[in-house]
Amino acid sequence: LVEGEEEILMPRYVRVNLLKMTPKQVIDTFIADNWTFLPAAPSPPAPPAPNTFYRDEHLDFMLVFPPKSDLHLHPLYVSGVLILQDKASCFPAAILAPPKDAYVIDGCAAPGNKTSQLAMSMGNGGKIIACDLDLRRLNILKRLTTKAGCTNITALNTSFLTLDTSEPDYTKVTHILLDPSCSGSGIINRLDHLVDAYAEEQEQAIILETTTTGGAAERAAAEEKKKERLKSLGEFQIECVAKAMTFPNVRKISYSTCSIYAEENEHVVTELLRRYWPKWKLSPRAKVLPTWHRRGYALDVGDVPGLVSTDEDRAKVADCLVRAVPGGPDGDLMNGFFVACFERVGEKDNSGL
Ligand code: SAM
Repeated sequence: LVEGEEEILMPRYVRVNLLKMTPKQVIDTFIADNWTFLPAAPSPPAPPAPNTFYRDEHLDFMLVFPPKSDLHLHPLYVSGVLILQDKASCFPAAILAPPKDAYVIDGCAAPGNKTSQLAMSMGNGGKIIACDLDLRRLNILKRLTTKAGCTNITALNTSFLTLDTSEPDYTKVTHILLDPSCSGSGIINRLDHLVDAYAEEQEQAIILETTTTGGAAERAAAEEKKKERLKSLGEFQIECVAKAMTFPNVRKISYSTCSIYAEENEHVVTELLRRYWPKWKLSPRAKVLPTWHRRGYALDVGDVPGLVSTDEDRAKVADCLVRAVPGGPDGDLMNGFFVACFERVGEKDNSGL
């Protein structure tokens, strides 16, 4: 918790690693350990009371424990069955949903929670290339994914932006997950997470603080700096997705950030549609966590000729996008997050959005 920040009590989200155990086996283990299993998630959503837990209503591999539950010494954590991963951070791999025999690239992969989730959903089938520029973080990825029992991952210490897409191996790539560096502005309760791998992700995020002290000139200068930083992050994020679209046989690309800023989210998506529609389109809501209530913002960030020009079009785009609002009580009791999924448009497909 940063000084002056109000603590938000978020549940402790636990991903059951299906490569090692089923949720039922894990639930039974906790019940045998005197925990009370609640039959359903509370409505409206709330963290479970002490010594109780429930199964998440959107992600069937996820269990939800009371805030500050320390599971680091639990035998199931030590053996790689329990993975401490924020709920929103599980959305991108769940949305990409590669089939078991897919050839996947995780372009900005370290420290690897999403890579290990991809391996889990593919039952260790197919192949995953986990690429990251930062060797230290990539070594953490290797350690975490080995502990999680993943056997279909090859770690690659290079820039995703420099991969040669004409290499025969890369022509087999069908799915790409992109979770590039972002402002990290959705992340809350930073120190609460310092004990797990998620902290590594936060460390990388370029936290943009809003200056509330100092004079008007100081605040204006800080705002200007923040604007410039968001602009350059947005350009990098667009470059990443644009690069992904050049892999000759890639069919599906998920793009995500742990940012609350539209500059890194809706703006990025709109610019990509402007450049690449109708070759690429957004996956419709039906394929992008359809039961999740919090969708993208219907912002007027310019038209996409032939696709977006009215408020109704903007609402349709927003409905394809997923957002999570950080914290509570008006938030989603998790970190702030954003996901969009792009699909290559087939020859016979003229469905627009
Ligand atoms: N997806 C990761 C996870 O769930 O554990 C978190 C990724 S973190 C938000 C962004 C990562 O992108 C950092 O590890 C950073 O080193 C990496 N990165 C930044 N620029 C890159 C580039 N050009 N190519 C590959 N990786 C890059």
